[in-house]
Amino acid sequence: MSDRWTPDSWRALPVQQVPDYPDAAALAAVERQLASFPPLVFAGEARRLKRELAKVAKGEAFLLQGGDCAESFAEHSADNIRDFFRVFLQMAVVLTYAGASPVVKVGRIAGQFAKPRSAPMETVDGVELPSYRGDIVNDIEFTPEARIPDPRRQIEAYRQSAATLNLLRAFANGGYASLGNAHQWMLGFIKDSPQSGRYQALADRITEALDFMRAIGLDAENHPEMRSTEFFTSHEALLLGFEQALTRVDSTTGDWYATSGHMIWIGDRTRQADHAHMEYCRGVKNPLGLKCGPSLKPDDLIRLIDTLNPQNEAGRLTLIARFGADKVGDHLPALVRAVKREGRTVVWSCDPMHGNTIKAASGYKTRPFDQILKEVKDFFAVHAAEGTFAGGVHLEMTGKNVTECTGGARAITDADLKDRYHTYCDPRLNAEQAIEMAFLVAELLKQ
Ligand code: PEP
Ligand code: MN
Repeated sequence: MSDRWTPDSWRALPVQQVPDYPDAAALAAVERQLASFPPLVFAGEARRLKRELAKVAKGEAFLLQGGDCAESFAEHSADNIRDFFRVFLQMAVVLTYAGASPVVKVGRIAGQFAKPRSAPMETVDGVELPSYRGDIVNDIEFTPEARIPDPRRQIEAYRQSAATLNLLRAFANGGYASLGNAHQWMLGFIKDSPQSGRYQALADRITEALDFMRAIGLDAENHPEMRSTEFFTSHEALLLGFEQALTRVDSTTGDWYATSGHMIWIGDRTRQADHAHMEYCRGVKNPLGLKCGPSLKPDDLIRLIDTLNPQNEAGRLTLIARFGADKVGDHLPALVRAVKREGRTVVWSCDPMHGNTIKAASGYKTRPFDQILKEVKDFFAVHAAEGTFAGGVHLEMTGKNVTECTGGARAITDADLKDRYHTYCDPRLNAEQAIEMAFLVAELLKQ
């Protein structure tokens, strides 16, 4: 990797997980068109997120990151976005009160379209076709035509991201995010939850605090900070041609920023040193995530940190541990120790989803709630033992009442999975499971 970086310097390097576009000229035309479109997010916003994440790195705030595994064109409705945002805010309120710390809110949304796949081909009933790589690349339908990568889908993904962001900005600033709404909801959740007793104490505290604030006049009408919230977007920076087209110079600093989302991350399958994804990401000034899975060795991690955060800037880099419930206790301590020994400032976040995917007897890909929770608990335990800060969680979740992960308070079974299994890629926590997880993480934060 030479020192000189340009938005296209990644093109000279080996690259994993690239779609096989049949028409290079059509792809180039789409990338030129995207390069002429307005940015989706602004450099100043990305800098603000970096400052918030710097607080997480110092143990002064907690990161909540979550959303779909893969956004889809078919499910792009205002209701879906609203339901996701509402559940996400509710989780944030639970964590804020329990942890008595600010929560940095980052959605996997408004750009989370491209998917890395473990196999380039998929076989169903003896028929072999290219794998689905996310709606930004090809169509999930299992036909030869649908699976051909089509560059025009990138324009569609851009437009969907813009519309999603527009609604999110309105929700975040236009009164919907008022704390008063979360208070109402809290009561509803307790009422409906099958294990309500378990949450009662914390919810009571939250309710009391909100009542107290209202009683002394701190209500949403005269305090804008209670009416609005800061919400940021993120996605895996996988489709580098798309990312390059949205890479822009910030006029105030002269620095390059990815304007496809506030934070971007590098997936566990594309974090090879000296490869294209590392090269692209090192050159933009956004906050970055790096997925850390079982194959990552401590020395290699330090080298990746050297590349991504050479100035050791707080808030620049979030390490997202995704080992699996049975592996995190074995793998994470060595990484945490190496980072600490080398004096690197990072946010440590726990993705308890991607190491816990199993195939149910019914054939569905699922994740047991208890395994997800176990990984989070072990993650916190490792940080407690090492004297470091468990800074956040990274969840795949939805605001809808789907049946994709087993377990949780309503004890979804393998047999229930078929009822409402809607994900385009990995199984997500449903609204109740997500909120339940927030309560359980809150208990860990409190300790
Ligand atoms: C994901 O976050 O959807 C994903 C593919 O994760 P990982 O790179 O950790 O496997
Ligand atoms: Mn996923």
